[in-house]
Amino acid sequence: MSTSTPSEQHHASVLVINSGSSSIKYQLVTPHDGAAVASGLVERIGETAGAVKHVAHGTTTRREVPVPDHGAGLRIVLGLFEEVGPDLQDAHVVAVGHRVVQGGDRFDGPVLVDAAVEHAIEELSPLAPLHNPPNLTGIRVGQALLPDVPHVAVFDTAFFRHLPDAAATYAIDADVAARYGVRRYGAHGTSHQYVSRQVAQILGRPVEDLHQIVLHLGNGASASAVRGGVAVETSMGMTPLEGLVMGTRSGDIDPAVVFHLYRNAGMSVDEIDDLLNRRSGIKGLSGENDFRALHDLVAAGDAGARLALDVYLHRLRKYIGAYHAVLGRLDVITFTAGVGENDDIVRASVLAGLEPLGIEVDAARNDGRKSEPTVISPDGARVTVLVVPTNEELAIARQAIEVVGA
Ligand code: ADP
Repeated sequence: MSTSTPSEQHHASVLVINSGSSSIKYQLVTPHDGAAVASGLVERIGETAGAVKHVAHGTTTRREVPVPDHGAGLRIVLGLFEEVGPDLQDAHVVAVGHRVVQGGDRFDGPVLVDAAVEHAIEELSPLAPLHNPPNLTGIRVGQALLPDVPHVAVFDTAFFRHLPDAAATYAIDADVAARYGVRRYGAHGTSHQYVSRQVAQILGRPVEDLHQIVLHLGNGASASAVRGGVAVETSMGMTPLEGLVMGTRSGDIDPAVVFHLYRNAGMSVDEIDDLLNRRSGIKGLSGENDFRALHDLVAAGDAGARLALDVYLHRLRKYIGAYHAVLGRLDVITFTAGVGENDDIVRASVLAGLEPLGIEVDAARNDGRKSEPTVISPDGARVTVLVVPTNEELAIARQAIEVVGA
């Protein structure tokens, strides 16, 4: 049964797939207007009780069924498209866009998937062992089930591929670094690129003219410095663990902490990996990884939560200062992602007292959650501060369309 509207029939759409170790997120996007025609999530792949959620035409369909593997998950999703719509034939799907976390030094933009690309994603897996293998699985099952549509890989690292060497290089033995690919690759690049270009559009200025800091503050968090549309610094490193304090990740830490815990706490490397990636950040300090819960604790006088927020803000502020120095002149600071878009306390607190740097926030403009691009600095401020909602799916869809030339 076809439930598509005439506009869906006339405009190309892209199916965007973000395949994780135990989940598949997807969205059917019409890039010309940025609409998410359908979206959904397959969860708990490989567990006894799987869950599928499909949202289309304003209704949500849920299925609680075992999903033994990614192939089964995607088959269920395609079944739901047939059953409740929109019909993928009528939607004129011209490409499938796959999010791939690690493109290493191979990819500085989106590419059509072929055997060599698949091989490269596999070869880069040691640098992103939790992400690249399930990303590749998503590509393979996608190709098997949708063989007539071109598949495009969009890399989270691509926007940062040409960071200046001074920013990308770790000061360790050069031969060891080269042999094992130890350098800074960054992550969240799709979001930083999308948001920095949106900013230029919103301000009506060429991106080439702007010196920007983008703060992607979600559960994972990263900052970037973008000069003239080109990324010149970013806070995530060889992996997403470096940089800002995050929901559950420590961000920057003295690497000797790892040796110390290994030698003296009897922790294995895997346990330390788990500690720093999943039991640290604001969760490690406060017990909560969600900022809404963190603020509730702070309001209730919880000292651990207060410290967690202070550590988070202090780190973020240091990065803003550092990136200001890297850029020399600063024109724009933009907040995005879950915390950046919704948390007016974080936005106001992190920039408080920076007036001498030309950075100001207007309390009334900053107030509340922002689902639309919003300038939150006062008129005439030297640095324009904005909130711009990110949309990684749309960014992936647009890049996929560009690659296939539709
Ligand atoms: P990710 O994509 O990294 O999982 P998101 O960008 O969706 O994360 O951000 C999720 C985070 O956003 C949550 O963990 C929470 O801390 C924060 N968040 C979401 N809504 C709000 C809100 N209304 N106020 C403050 N923080 C929020």
